[in-house]
Amino acid sequence: MTNEVGPLTGSCSCGSTCYELSSQPMIVHGCHCRWCQRESGASFAVNALIEADRVTITKGEVVETLVPSQSGAGQRFSRCPTCQVTLWTNYLGMRGGLGEVVRFIRAGTLDDPDRFPPDVHIFTSTKQPWVTLPKDVPAFEEYLVIKDIWSPESLVRRKALHEMVGTESP
Ligand SMILES: [Zn+2]
Ligand SMILES: [Zn+2]
Repeated sequence: MTNEVGPLTGSCSCGSTCYELSSQPMIVHGCHCRWCQRESGASFAVNALIEADRVTITKGEVVETLVPSQSGAGQRFSRCPTCQVTLWTNYLGMRGGLGEVVRFIRAGTLDDPDRFPPDVHIFTSTKQPWVTLPKDVPAFEEYLVIKDIWSPESLVRRKALHEMVGTESP
């Protein structure tokens, strides 16, 4: 564990499926796109992006559902087979071919989600008007400018992923 405040664990609602992250996420998105609003049934989704190989299922299993996505390539939801809560998703059309290697952890499924506020808010052009964003957190009307927002450390991790899948960072 690289984290000083305890393990990064999470679970579904019924407790059949549990997971652990072996490091901090690379970045946490608050996504206000209409797709995320519909999928979450809420005003925005909070996604913690992390390398797939840093996520370990410590109990149970997940079942995968392919859901239509804006890119057209689909978004794969990994859910508890019993209670059907989504633990993470993969955007199969993710830029740079990273769809399989980056998991978007649903931050609300972490045992201590308070530790993972969004580092950036995106697609605020469709933000629900009653949501007030914090002034000190960057926000983008559409997608974020990665090189401006990701920490240097996370950019190194992202570069390693591109090398792994054999693509250039866009
Ligand atoms: Zn469950
Ligand atoms: Zn979204």
